[in-house]
Amino acid sequence: MKKKKNTKNNLKSGRRILSVEERKEMSKPKSPAAETPEIKEPIKPPNVFKMMKSFGKDLSKYVLAGAPNCSKEDYKERLLTCDACPHLMRNVMRCGKCGCLVEHKAKWRTTTCPINKWKKQDVSDIKAKQEEAKKKQEEEEKKSDSGKK
Ligand code: SF4
Repeated sequence: MKKKKNTKNNLKSGRRILSVEERKEMSKPKSPAAETPEIKEPIKPPNVFKMMKSFGKDLSKYVLAGAPNCSKEDYKERLLTCDACPHLMRNVMRCGKCGCLVEHKAKWRTTTCPINKWKKQDVSDIKAKQEEAKKKQEEEEKKSDSGKK
């Protein structure tokens, strides 16, 4: 009587009762690799100096280029790549390679993944704009120099 009750309870709770053969199979020793699960070491973030250096470099590039952002599709794609990356520190959403906040870093078109996992962005228009701005600045400087003389 008790056995039937247990079976009913197990079936109600969605658990399946294993057969004797299945139990034997489960108790057999598996391969050594399967017995000792791979212990993943926690990702070590880069030191503060390296993080600041990397962030400063990315920020100056971004600002000098006129703060261009990625398209929504590229941003999503970058985040998905990071999500599948073993270097992502999920608890703080930082990249374990450069220490940057992934959500911000992925938005900036001028930034790149430290291990080149992201799709390359076309920054030719940014470079052209920068060169144009440089030329304008040089012309203005020349004009102001000639005006002083
Ligand atoms: S930026 Fe690159 S290395 Fe860092 S988490 Fe994303 S994919 Fe991984």
